[in-house]
Amino acid sequence: MKIPSVKGFHDVLPDESVRWSWIEQQARDVFALYNLVEIRVPIVERTELFTRSIGDTTDIVEKEMYSFEDRDGSSLTLRPEGTASIVRAYVEHALQQREPVSKLFYLGPMFRRERPQKGRLRQFAQIGVEVLGRDDAAIDAEVVLLLHDLLAALRIRNPRIELNSLGDAACRPAYREALRAFGEARRAQLCENCQRRLERNPLRLLDCKSSECRAATADAPVMLDHLCAPCRAHFDAVRAVLDREGVAVRLEPRMVRGLDYYCRTAFEVVAEGLGSQNAVGGGGRYDGLVKDLGGGNVPGIGFALGVERLVLSMADDAAGRPLAPEIFIAPLGAAEQEALHAAHRWRRGGVRVELAPGGKSLKSQMRLADKAGAPYVLILGEDELAAKALTVRDMVAKRDFTRAVDLTLSADALRAALAQLAQQPMEQRA
Ligand SMILES: [Zn+2]
Ligand SMILES: [Zn+2]
Repeated sequence: MKIPSVKGFHDVLPDESVRWSWIEQQARDVFALYNLVEIRVPIVERTELFTRSIGDTTDIVEKEMYSFEDRDGSSLTLRPEGTASIVRAYVEHALQQREPVSKLFYLGPMFRRERPQKGRLRQFAQIGVEVLGRDDAAIDAEVVLLLHDLLAALRIRNPRIELNSLGDAACRPAYREALRAFGEARRAQLCENCQRRLERNPLRLLDCKSSECRAATADAPVMLDHLCAPCRAHFDAVRAVLDREGVAVRLEPRMVRGLDYYCRTAFEVVAEGLGSQNAVGGGGRYDGLVKDLGGGNVPGIGFALGVERLVLSMADDAAGRPLAPEIFIAPLGAAEQEALHAAHRWRRGGVRVELAPGGKSLKSQMRLADKAGAPYVLILGEDELAAKALTVRDMVAKRDFTRAVDLTLSADALRAALAQLAQQPMEQRA
């Protein structure tokens, strides 16, 4: 009986994992340019961390979390996103006492029990950034610039950054009230979800996917028209920097982001290749979250990108191929042990070696070698073994050098010998 994988949980096979590794490496390179350091937090957290931070009227907390009771009766949850865990770790280890500003990044799997669809899995990977300890407009702009540079490095097809401000504790309550009153007046036209959430989370009206709700809220008030003077100045300053740096963004006044903790700067990235679910990721400012989770009054801003979605929206030739072996050793007859011995020496010296199993014909060895893509095949048959010298087949120039390379060479000497063979003019071939 075969045991299939769990719905929404995918394997990343070698063809695709090349792209994943490449994405991770590009991300690490860009993060280093911005002086970010990596943080690794656990996959499992106490359930209350997410109910308190993400908000209990969100889709994630209402119906998408993988929560389970541990053997001691406590409720644990597979993390549905990264920010809550990172803020929890930040508070738990009092990082604000070590560094006034923490610039962090993370990579890893997240878990949400959504309906699986293209680019949306139940276990999905995210690359994220969190900057804690600054609330000035310059850092918001810098985070968006970092996002922009990362999308360019990843060669994402036609990425677009959408930007909004969600106000703050001074101006959002009045806006919420205005939006709630607006929704209340159209209650009959709203979907059940929105009717239910109207009292506690009216902002969700704006990102409801139902067409009735979209029609009913087309002329709803937007936060941008209700910003207080400091929020307006902050938002204008962020936009001024982006303008000056030549980073185009699109204002998206209806963007509210899914989670309760965002304030002021909020942004999303959309790109080609994803169909209707075209968001690659997003983020924003979350100034109250550290305090909500028991820490000091520390502001924060961050974003996360979905790796599966990045893979779908990357240029096709972006990641390249995995490195081929430099040499392929084909042992014939009784030469297997000597071949392994030489392969081990050369590998320790930094040469990428594919070693074929013994007991095959030369013809089938050459088929394997062709597939492996190594430029040189080193053949070790009985004659070669007796002479302690390998026959080299140059796969590019299609010529053989009989017993031309000493079996006991060091890795460096092997490389030099192969380079010298490649230089030989055709008429000197053995
Ligand atoms: Zn709705
Ligand atoms: Zn405000």
